[in-house]
Amino acid sequence: MHDRGGVHLHEMAITQSVVHAVCDRMGDAQIRRICLEIGTLSGVVADSVRFCFDLITEGTPLEGASLEIIQPTGRARCRDCGAEFALNDLLVLCECGSANRELLAGEELKIREVEVMA
Ligand SMILES: [Zn+2]
Repeated sequence: MHDRGGVHLHEMAITQSVVHAVCDRMGDAQIRRICLEIGTLSGVVADSVRFCFDLITEGTPLEGASLEIIQPTGRARCRDCGAEFALNDLLVLCECGSANRELLAGEELKIREVEVMA
């Protein structure tokens, strides 16, 4: 399982790339709010991202911005029987027993909104 006591290396790198992407797009504009989409199956721990965000944004135009994280839950469609079902982890099989499924949601990892200070 995820080591909550350790250094959040994975999330640190992800948060860093989010901050870079926002700075690239927005230049020096002061950011008021940023909204991220982090799917529950993405393997990224939202709480760790929150933790890293404050550290990484220090001294950047994102410093002090509020961070909102939306966590879409997992959904998949079975390629064998066509059923759609929710899944909380990637090991879940379709009711028909098939592991042949297509993920519809849950692996998102993207910047959804960036709000600039007026
Ligand atoms: Zn099925």
